[in-house]
Amino acid sequence: MTEVAMVLFSGGQDSATCLAWALDRFESVETIGFDYGQRHAVELEVRKTALAALRRDFPSWAPRLGEDHLIDLSVLGEISETALTRRGEIAMQANGLPNTFVPGRNLMFLTFAAALAYRRGARQIITGVCETDYSGYPDCRDDAIKAMQLALNIGMDSRFVIHTPLMWIDKAATWALAEELGGKALVDLIRRNTHTCYQGVRDKQHDWGHGCGTCPACELRRDGYLSFASAPKQIQS
Ligand code: ZN
Repeated sequence: MTEVAMVLFSGGQDSATCLAWALDRFESVETIGFDYGQRHAVELEVRKTALAALRRDFPSWAPRLGEDHLIDLSVLGEISETALTRRGEIAMQANGLPNTFVPGRNLMFLTFAAALAYRRGARQIITGVCETDYSGYPDCRDDAIKAMQLALNIGMDSRFVIHTPLMWIDKAATWALAEELGGKALVDLIRRNTHTCYQGVRDKQHDWGHGCGTCPACELRRDGYLSFASAPKQIQS
């Protein structure tokens, strides 16, 4: 039986690494992304170029990479006033969460991914959430994902498996995982063709990729890359 996988692919470093992880394991891999009124449509543009680059640069993965689905979730932007969906300063709130937190976002993403996976015959669902180097979003935590798997399986009478390859690794290890999966070519593809910056900056290129270099997302990505790049490499025997 062909295992079909559905990868939540935003166009960022984490989900691109997860997509490579899935392509390395499953025979048929589809991608799903969400338009929820992000401040910067650049993420949605980057998704397309990253998928095209993967198809072009990784011939062994290309036949496995199936349809891409972009879901309109603009309703999420309508009901949430956050720094990710409205213009405003990125700041810490009284409850200890940054105002980039979009309440329920990952829960909705997983629900829609599972609804589509059900239709597409995909049992494996892959998401790049992580509770190691992260912004403290509660719906990125392992318990939230496990609870979602249970709810989705009960509610859809299914046996979905939600994979979170990055849950317990930091950003440096995420870069190392990309190198392990696709060598320098994949690291370069992720540096060039993914987007993480909250400010939507694409015209500044650094070693670690494009971005403003100062927002929380850029800081995590930069620090992880510098730590990865300066770590002694294992000598292959
Ligand atoms: Zn930034």
